[in-house]
Amino acid sequence: MTPLTRLIAAQIDAAGPITLADYMGLCLMHPQHGYYATRDPLGAAGDFITAPEISQIFGELLGLSLAQCWLDQGAPSPFALVELGPGRGTLMADVLRATARVPGFHKALRLHLVETSTALRACQAERLTEYSPTWHEQIETLPDLPLFAIANEFFDALPIRQFQRSGDGWCERVIGLSKDGTLTPGLAASGATGALAHRLKDTADGDVVETCPLGTRIATEIGQRIAQQGGSALIVDYGDWRTLGDTFQALQDHATANPYESPGHADLTAHVDFEALAIAAAPARHTRLTPQGVFLERLGATQRAQTLAASLSGEALTAHVGAHRRLTHPDEMGTLFKVMGLYPEGATPPPGLNP
Ligand code: SAH
Repeated sequence: MTPLTRLIAAQIDAAGPITLADYMGLCLMHPQHGYYATRDPLGAAGDFITAPEISQIFGELLGLSLAQCWLDQGAPSPFALVELGPGRGTLMADVLRATARVPGFHKALRLHLVETSTALRACQAERLTEYSPTWHEQIETLPDLPLFAIANEFFDALPIRQFQRSGDGWCERVIGLSKDGTLTPGLAASGATGALAHRLKDTADGDVVETCPLGTRIATEIGQRIAQQGGSALIVDYGDWRTLGDTFQALQDHATANPYESPGHADLTAHVDFEALAIAAAPARHTRLTPQGVFLERLGATQRAQTLAASLSGEALTAHVGAHRRLTHPDEMGTLFKVMGLYPEGATPPPGLNP
């Protein structure tokens, strides 16, 4: 039994079953035993690998798309360059290297990172020290400046609630204790849930739907800032336009695991419902949801890959070709991952994305 299992079991014993969102929040972010709080989970030695850790092309193209938005909006100075959940800082380092030649961009930017994990903040500090980043626990403390933001595999890590349809009501998934004291998922009694009224139309009895209250709150805040002060956001993640079904999953050592077995030791994620984020971000405009492979190729991923390939040979070249394929090919991350941009009414959408 992990220390976190004991802690959660004691909490349930005292106050009753907890929601999936509370469970996920404790597993991922508990200050002593949480998954992100205690380790660097990214990369070959960790539990999963993300696009910026696969190839520099990803961050370079995202950075240039964002910088073009900044130019299209009249190059406001100063502005906040923001990353939500920057992981090891690799993505932002690539963004900054690629945008160094955009006249005025570096002079105008103030780097702000939204990150709760102290372990990962230390990695980010090491990579990004020359840009003197300011860290934030939550998005609400960002400065009142035009906001140019990126978020890769951030929203999938935020706690979700899960509901199973029962007639015209919904039963919430909760975590309780079985007789032998192990953590066990179950369903609470059915109740009406106003936030899910629109899902009565596209679901049947027994269907599962998910909401992400924190994700919605963050999208609302970003959307309001972009609509009022200018800016844009690029959100990249796995998920769909309106998700349906149970997408909650645990990943440990690059393989799926039982999410209730060793809390704090596995990464817990859920697919992102981009429609919910787009609705929350209004009055900011949103682009069409676009497959990652299409987005990167529109921005010149192949040309960039060829330029980089020119100075490589042998194993390094093979790895480089494989990395480009992994990011863009439909059988790999190319269609599973999607991109959505946010931008102000009347502005040009981020390059690579259509309104
Ligand atoms: N964007 C990075 C890392 C993705 S992993 C990459 O592409 O490699 C998810 C990141 O989000 C981690 O840095 C994690 O610590 C951070 N994170 C998760 N939940 C968070 C929250 N509620 N607030 C701020 N950061 C969070």
